[in-house]
This record gives sequence, structure tokens and C-alpha cells, in this order.
Amino acid sequence: MSDRTADPSGSPQRGSLEVTKYAGGPFQQNGYLVRCTRTDRVAVIDPGAVAPTMVQALRDGGWTVEGIYLTHGHLDHVEGLEAIREFTDAPIHLHPADLPLLDRAVDQAAAFGMKFSASLPPPDKEIVPGEALPVGDGELQVRFAPGHSPGHVVLYAPADGFALVGDVIFQGSIGRTDLPGGSLQRLMDSIKSQILTLPDETRLLTGHGPETTVGQERRGNPFLISQFRGEFA
Ligand SMILES: [Zn+2]
Ligand SMILES: [Zn+2]
Repeated sequence: MSDRTADPSGSPQRGSLEVTKYAGGPFQQNGYLVRCTRTDRVAVIDPGAVAPTMVQALRDGGWTVEGIYLTHGHLDHVEGLEAIREFTDAPIHLHPADLPLLDRAVDQAAAFGMKFSASLPPPDKEIVPGEALPVGDGELQVRFAPGHSPGHVVLYAPADGFALVGDVIFQGSIGRTDLPGGSLQRLMDSIKSQILTLPDETRLLTGHGPETTVGQERRGNPFLISQFRGEFA
């Protein structure tokens, strides 16, 4: 247990986590640094092409990396792992169902007409749905959300009101399901059970493009409205 002090106003204790987005590369992929402002411990989320900039921020801040947490194994979300590994030995976490994707990173690149020769460091730990990944005094709860990839997870910070959703859902759109191991049915089930069950005001920090909220997508996302016929609006 942490020794969080109670809020004298009696309102729920606000969390300690602060998120910064780093976007870049040919896929305009979003990586994130989640920092506990009380301890300066940081989680690195999805270090893609922009990883060197993330490393610079870690260096400048003098922060300690607690873990490297991957929402899924697609190349654009993991191609910067080596740059992060050169900076820190903090463990890399990935759901085991996406391990084959990581192993086939070179093939993934070829499928997009790209060359990728760097060797990716292997994950150190398996992400287990239901567990909480630590970030200093805070935590990211693991929600299993396959469909875009077989081992996709969403990382939810309930005390801080945000979720790192990778490529499950975007502002006005949803993740593609035509890549190996993808399934539209499973993606829609994941959105219904793991995203739309979160409070409306929850910030959704996406793997590409601008952030959104659960409420905004519940009411305005054309893919959800057509699939669920407004059931969740
Ligand atoms: Zn992806
Ligand atoms: Zn992506």
C-alpha cells in the first residue's frame, strides 16, 4: 500500500500521473511518457519512431524508468525499443499473444515496403489482463482488448482519468482489422466491454492522431453508431 494522504476536502484523491505525447515517424505514431509527479518514476508506452526524443526527455528530466509497456506488437509501436533499451534496463512488457508480431518485425516492415534491420530487444515480462502495472505511486490497469491485434491491451489509469488505448479506437474511427490476427468482431467486442464501460469523461490517448474521450466516441463515432445502432449513445 502507498501512504497517500487523504484529500481534506473529502473528494476522491486525484492521481499523480502526468502524460506527455510524442508523435512522429511515417505512421505518425503516438508514444507516451507517463510520469508520477510525486516520485519522478516514468513508464514508457509504445516507443515508436519518436523514441530518441523520448530518451532525450528522460535524460533532461533525470527520471527513472519503471517499465516499458507495449499496447501491442505492431512495428510502428515498437521500432524504438532499441533506443530505449540503450538508455534503461527497465523491463519491457508485452501480452504473449503479440509476441509473434514482434518476432516478425522485419516481415511487418517489408509488408509496408520498408526496410527494418535493427534487432529488437525481446520482452522481459508478459502482460497479464487484470493486473496493475506500477508507475511510481500510480498504476495502469490492464484491460484485454484484442481485435486490432491478438494480444492488444488498453492501459487504464482510473485515479487519473485516462486510458492509453493504442490502436483499438481513434477520434471518429476504429483500429484496422485486416492485419494478421485481426478480427472486426473481436475489436467491436473489445470496444464494447473495455472502452464503453469507462466513465464518459475518460481521456482516450490513442496510438495515432488526437486524443478523444469515451463520451465523445460513444455519441459521435460513426463506426460504433453503425455497429451498435446507437445502443450506447
Ligand atoms: Zn497497430
Ligand atoms: Zn499503430
